[in-house]
Amino acid sequence: MNLARWLVRAALAHPDRPAVLLGDTVVLDYRTLADRAARLAGHLRGTLGLQPGERVALCMHNHVGYLELLYAAWWAGLVVVPVNAKLHPGEVAFIVGDAEAAVLFVSEDLAPDLRAPLAALPALRQVLTPADAAYRTALEAAAIEPVHRAPDDLAWLFYTSGTTGRPKGVMQSHRNLAAMTACYFMDVDEVTAADAIVYAAPMSHGAGMYNFAFVAKAARHVVPVSGGFDPAELLTLSRGIGRLCLFAAPTMVKRLVSHLRDTGAPAHGFKTIVYGGGPMYVEDIQDALGVMGPCFVQIYGQGESPMTITALSRQHLADRAHPKWLDRIGSVGMAHSLVEVCVVDSRGDPVAAGEMGEVVVRGETVMTGYWRNPEATAQTLRDGWLRTGDLGAMNEDGFLTLKDRSKDVVISGGSNIYPREVEEVLLRHPGVREAAVIGQPDAEWGEIVVAFIVGDGVEPEALDALCLQHIARFKRPRRYRFVEALPKNSYGKVLKTALRQLA
Ligand code: AMP
Repeated sequence: MNLARWLVRAALAHPDRPAVLLGDTVVLDYRTLADRAARLAGHLRGTLGLQPGERVALCMHNHVGYLELLYAAWWAGLVVVPVNAKLHPGEVAFIVGDAEAAVLFVSEDLAPDLRAPLAALPALRQVLTPADAAYRTALEAAAIEPVHRAPDDLAWLFYTSGTTGRPKGVMQSHRNLAAMTACYFMDVDEVTAADAIVYAAPMSHGAGMYNFAFVAKAARHVVPVSGGFDPAELLTLSRGIGRLCLFAAPTMVKRLVSHLRDTGAPAHGFKTIVYGGGPMYVEDIQDALGVMGPCFVQIYGQGESPMTITALSRQHLADRAHPKWLDRIGSVGMAHSLVEVCVVDSRGDPVAAGEMGEVVVRGETVMTGYWRNPEATAQTLRDGWLRTGDLGAMNEDGFLTLKDRSKDVVISGGSNIYPREVEEVLLRHPGVREAAVIGQPDAEWGEIVVAFIVGDGVEPEALDALCLQHIARFKRPRRYRFVEALPKNSYGKVLKTALRQLA
C-alpha cells in the first residue's frame, strides 16, 4: 500500500496522457512524470542513502516539479513534509528541524534567507532547488522500484499551528490519504481523464492533497503561470483547458465570482469548484451559484482528518425546491462516507439533534497522532474520536452546521492564523502589557487580524516591524486597538467574544 503505486499504474495504463501543465502548456506526460519520480527516488535512496520512514521537506511555491517530488519521496518509502512557502525563515527552520528532515527541496527565491537558520540543523543532509545543477544530476540517478509501505506508515507530515503557537506535525498515513481520496470519489466528485485540476491554492495544503484523485485517473494537473490565484488567469485557463476543477477557500470563490460578473464571461470551462477551509456565508454561495451555476461542492475538514469530515454535495446545493435549502447551503453538509461524525457535550456524550456541541470524528481519514507529541495526541484523540475543536449542531437529517471555532483561529485569505502566535510576538515589545488577537469579518479577506493592546507609548509602526521580524507577513495585524484593559472572566481568561463585539 504505497500511494506512489497510483502513479505507477497511471503511467503504465496511459503513458502518453498529459500529466503536468504550466498554464496551458504540457510539461510532462505520465510516462515522464513516473520516470522522473523513480529516478529522484533512486537519488534519495541510492545516492543519499535515506532509509524508509525518513523525512523529506518541501518548501516550495506551486511549481511543475512539485508532483514529481511528492511522488519521489513516497516511491522511496519516505515521508513528505510540505511547508507553507509563505512562512518566515525561522518558522520554516523550526518545522524542518522538528521533523528532522534529511533533505529539503526549496524554491530558488526562498533559498538565500533560509541558509542561516538551516545551518544549525544537524539532520539536514542536502538542500536542493529545482533549478540547481544538482537537481539535474539527481534526475540522472538509476530508477528504483517503489518501496513497500504498510497502510499505517507515515506518508505526509502536515504542520499545523496549535493554540500554544508551536506548530504540531499531523501524521497522515498512506491509509489516511487513500481513504481521503476514496471519499473524494464517493462524496465530492467523479474524475475522468478529460478533467484537469488547477492548483490555485498552495500545493503544500489541501489543494495539493487533491492531487491523488487526479493521478489515480491519469487526469491533468495544471500549475498556473502565476503560481497562485488570479481570477483572470483562471478564466483564461478554463477556456483553453476546459473541465477545470479546483479547491478554493471561500474568499477565492468570492473573488472569482465577482470577476466573472464584472466581465460577463461564461463559466462553462469550470467543472467543479470545491470550497472549504473556512466559513462560506449563505449570501455568497447563493451569489456564486447564480453566476457560475451548479459547479460547487463544499467540504469541511482539518489537517487531523484531511479534507474529510463532511461534504455538501452539488445536488444538495442545487436543490432550491427543498424546504430546508437555505439551512442546507449554510451547513457544511453530511458526514463523508468513510467517517462517522458526532456532536458531543463537554463530557463527550452525544447531544440531541439541533443542539450545539463539539464536533468529533472517527474513521479511516483520522490522523495517527501528532509527531513526537503524545500529550497533544492524547488530548485530541480520545476514545478513538478526533476532537476537532469546532462547535456545531447536526440536524435530524444529518446536516452539520458549524457555529463557531472553539480554537479562535483567524482565517484570512484562506490561511489560518493562530492568535496566540501573534500575541506572543506583540508581547515582546517592552511597552506592551497585554495583547489579544481576534479575527474581524472582512469582505475581501474573510477575516482580518485585529490586535487589542494594553500598554504605554506603543506605536503601531513599531509593532508592525516586530511582527515582520518574527512571523510571516500575512499573520500580522491589519488593525490595532489601544485599550485600558482587556475584558476577562472570573478566571482571568480574556473574553474573545467580547473583543469581537467591541471590534
Ligand atoms: P486546517 O487544519 O488548517 O485545515 O483548518 C481546519 C479548520 O478550518 C477546521 O477545524 C474549521 O475550523 C475550519 N474549516 C474547515 N472547513 C470549513 C468549512 N467548510 N466551513 C467552516 N470552517 C471550516
